Amino acid sequence: MTTKSPAIEGQKVGAIVIGAGIAGVKQLYELRSRGIDAHILDAAGGVGGTWYWNRYPGCRFDVESYTYGYFFSRELLEEWTWTEEFATQKEIERYVNFVVDKFELRPFIHLNTRVDAATWDEGSSLWRINTASGSEIHAEYFVTALGILSAPRYPDVEGLEKFDGEHYHTGLWPHEEVSFKDKHVAVVGTGSSGVQIVPIVAEDAASVTVFQRSPNWCTPLNNKPIKTTRMNEIRSRYDEISETVNNTTASGFIHLGRSGSILDLPPEERTEFLEGIYNESGMTMLYRNYEDVTTDPEANDVVNEFLAEKIRSRVNDPETAEKLIPRNHGFGAKRPPQETNYYETFNKESVSLVSMFDEPIVSYNADGLSTTEKAYEFDMIIFASGFDAVTGSYSKIDIRGLDGIKLMDVWEKGPLTYFGLAVPGFPNMLIAGGPQSTRGNISRFVEAQTEWIGECLETAYENGWVIEATQQAAEEWSAHVAGQAGEPVNLGEGVHSWFLQQENTEDGKPVFLVGTEGLPVYRKTIAQAAANQYRGFAITAAVR
Ligand code: NAP
Repeated sequence: MTTKSPAIEGQKVGAIVIGAGIAGVKQLYELRSRGIDAHILDAAGGVGGTWYWNRYPGCRFDVESYTYGYFFSRELLEEWTWTEEFATQKEIERYVNFVVDKFELRPFIHLNTRVDAATWDEGSSLWRINTASGSEIHAEYFVTALGILSAPRYPDVEGLEKFDGEHYHTGLWPHEEVSFKDKHVAVVGTGSSGVQIVPIVAEDAASVTVFQRSPNWCTPLNNKPIKTTRMNEIRSRYDEISETVNNTTASGFIHLGRSGSILDLPPEERTEFLEGIYNESGMTMLYRNYEDVTTDPEANDVVNEFLAEKIRSRVNDPETAEKLIPRNHGFGAKRPPQETNYYETFNKESVSLVSMFDEPIVSYNADGLSTTEKAYEFDMIIFASGFDAVTGSYSKIDIRGLDGIKLMDVWEKGPLTYFGLAVPGFPNMLIAGGPQSTRGNISRFVEAQTEWIGECLETAYENGWVIEATQQAAEEWSAHVAGQAGEPVNLGEGVHSWFLQQENTEDGKPVFLVGTEGLPVYRKTIAQAAANQYRGFAITAAVR
């Protein structure tokens, strides 16, 4: 098997996919196996996307490993062995590399290749793709697989360059080993990434100071190794597992929720029930719970009170425990981080918690940082401060469609897409794993979308189509996504959630960036449109 990539600079190819993550790799497979000369461009030095960049210690799945991997190939399911219920970043990166090699995709993945601009050329019906190194590639079709959590964000505080110590972002973690030994470390941010890294840093560091803005409702991951017998059992159940995660649950998770209300249980049975799902592994508190806990504020409060008591019982210092209890949102209003010893870590002498509500960070200096209250000295600052989510990575590429319109201008007040797959004014551009489509087990949605795009572009390629979402279809879909979501229960005004665009929206109200109606409905909806001569798309003949 050749691993040398064919030179494509200055050439015309069938399709360019940007991004070699879970979506991009699957998209490349779909297009190449349908006879389209497709290639991936990615700025990274390896494949994996999010699982390439987020290589911080403690990074692992919060979704069951065997439900996250691809389902399209029986052979792949038989050949790959997961070693933990929730695999580490290293294992996931190995998995993506395994897939790339198994399906002989590597020659068509051009790494260390940053795309600066993509421009639709009406005269030739081609996309012009420009890279940072100055080369230009022409493509009949263009697929963005940029990821929804791939543009790291830092707190809005100037002057980080003044800090003489080491600093890292969890989403841009270096390949070299980072030692915390005997160091005084700050961790800023307590979302899923912060909650995963804090206990690991605290194992070796001289001190860890956790800067928390909003506390989160974290529940135990309860991870376990997967032994041979368990892996064999998983393999023997792949059909059933696939049916559940691809065709049954809205979230793409393995857990089945309960209809009815938690409020119908007598109080002692509520606690017993919640105790049971708290001690299971994975996101069971969210997905094995009664359906009303994320829709009815009173039912939601039952879970909030249960989890607050859990935090109080696990954290020795009552003042720290109270600081760790969320007050500005209810359980499930944001994606709940899955933790391993997170709360117990605050029982270590060396670990302390600073609430950024009480004392926000205002500046950096050579020795550390200052809050409104005092100066702190550190050897290292770790930013676990999340991402410019969902649309952030699109703002880093100058994507221009018909008449030179800029994608980020069209999306200024929130994304406008048809099915999360296409944008009016951007012919022959498709989106895999972007805004207005996904929530939950993201790889399940991505697998459905990349298959749909594969079929669509195969038909378009054979027939010489230029395919573009209509304005009306996109407006209807965007309104549909906003309407499905409703109000997130018990989310305080102004509270940040990466599911929502909260600034710069049309009427000042938050805009849902992701769809919520679930994979089975979504899959049916997009299949029906395809079967109906790509309803909602305008199709014209390409200039060839
Ligand atoms: P995140 O959930 O957005 O958390 C970012 C953290 O930084 C929050 O505590 C946030 O506080 C804080 N922060 C952000 N901007 C700040 C500012 N200007 N000043 C002070 N604090 C600020 O990001 P994440 O932890 O990287 O996780 C994002 C998503 O990635 C997760 O929801 C999950 O879907 C995925 N993820 C999954 C895993 C996994 O387990 N597989 C691991 C990591 C990430 P506020 O809450 O107040 O905004």
